[in-house]
Amino acid sequence: MKFGGVSVKDGEAILHSANLVKKFANDNEVVVVVSAMSGVTDALINAAKRCSSEASAGFIKLFVADMMKRHYEAVEKAVQSEDIKNRVINALEKLFDELEKVLLGITYLGELTKRSEDYIVSFGERLVAPIFSASLLSLGVDSVALTGCDAGILTDRNYGKAKPLPGIYELIRNRIEPLLKIKKTVPVVTGFIGCAEDGSITTLGRGGSDYTATILASALNADEVWLWKEVNGIMTCDPKFVPNAKFIPQISYQEAMELSHFGAKILHPLALIPVMRKNIPVRIKNVFNPDFEGTVICAGTKETKDVVKALSLIPKAGIVSISGAGFDFAEIMTEVFRILSEEKVGVIMVAQSSSELSLSIVVDLKDLEKAYQALKKMENGVIRVNKIENVSVISAVGAGMAGTPGVAGKIFSALGRNGINVMMISQSCSEYNISFVVKSEDGINAVRIIHDEFGLNN
Ligand code: ASP
Ligand code: MG
Repeated sequence: MKFGGVSVKDGEAILHSANLVKKFANDNEVVVVVSAMSGVTDALINAAKRCSSEASAGFIKLFVADMMKRHYEAVEKAVQSEDIKNRVINALEKLFDELEKVLLGITYLGELTKRSEDYIVSFGERLVAPIFSASLLSLGVDSVALTGCDAGILTDRNYGKAKPLPGIYELIRNRIEPLLKIKKTVPVVTGFIGCAEDGSITTLGRGGSDYTATILASALNADEVWLWKEVNGIMTCDPKFVPNAKFIPQISYQEAMELSHFGAKILHPLALIPVMRKNIPVRIKNVFNPDFEGTVICAGTKETKDVVKALSLIPKAGIVSISGAGFDFAEIMTEVFRILSEEKVGVIMVAQSSSELSLSIVVDLKDLEKAYQALKKMENGVIRVNKIENVSVISAVGAGMAGTPGVAGKIFSALGRNGINVMMISQSCSEYNISFVVKSEDGINAVRIIHDEFGLNN
């Protein structure tokens, strides 16, 4: 059984992807996971925010009309039969009506909770699934559209970053398997969204469609997950930063996870968890180059364990540092991480010295002010909290680094030779990555130097 996750831009992309599904659905049982059309999730979030502060009914009308235009145009291009077109338009009309009412509701309330925000962003995927499914039907492939909730993706109530509940795999299997085996139909499932046990819609975090695909794959014991992107696969570094970066044919789960944690926008950071324990390979495929094999993410073999396999760069990050003397270090650490977790700030990297308390925490630049203000409340005359803006985080990833001496030496001598100052360093005992921080203006240069030093160039 093969398994696909498709991201779509417009009607043409939907039709193109539906044709791909048709090609593979002949000899395989396929489940399709769709995400919203590009830009739609962001547009929905912005509209929701605007409605809670200043929007008028006029704004909502315009916004919904714009969404309708985009999606009806997609139907026009992607669905090849008048009859099926009319049916899907009926289904979409109901969704648009619902969207307009919800946005009006937010305007009246003047308040946007995380729960309502998830409900509003869910429309992005909920609009695409019926269009994609209709496109398949019009190509003669039997299909049914499902929401994540219909598919059995039950989650906790951590809206915006919900986690699937542990026991759902059997539920998913019971709901999807009969569609594949008895009805012989292609389920098209909304990515990114699930629901809590009370039925309220939740989302799995940005980029969560990948995660949906791997959860379903794990539940169904799929042979492979195919994540369709607009690139050939994973590269030794983002070519935007290193133009002569090279394509990587195979990479281990661990390495791919490290890379996505450190900002390589390949996949949702949690997406590999459900498939790792079952050894289900994940393949990154290019929608524009579908015959190309893509990168396979799988259990590490000797060949996949290069010393430095790939590099990632987070160009814009910030540091908050907490310093002082005469404290119980563990106590302060506990308090710092409690605060960051409460503020939902993702921690990219940590380094500390423990003789005199000095703890440095790297966060995304967009979270810096929030983290700084929250931690500043700990200041008491002895504890000091400072922030540094405009730094870049570079991470060198490779499972073969574990136990290999000299890798760090090579990295830092190369930087030293080129006059780049390293502000902070971290490597955990897994030894799968060495990460460090430099000034933003040195970021791209530093990543290029190391790419070169380890012979990763094309
Ligand atoms: N539409 C969602 C997002 O933009 C989920 C996804 O694309 O995977 O984050
Ligand atoms: Mg997306």
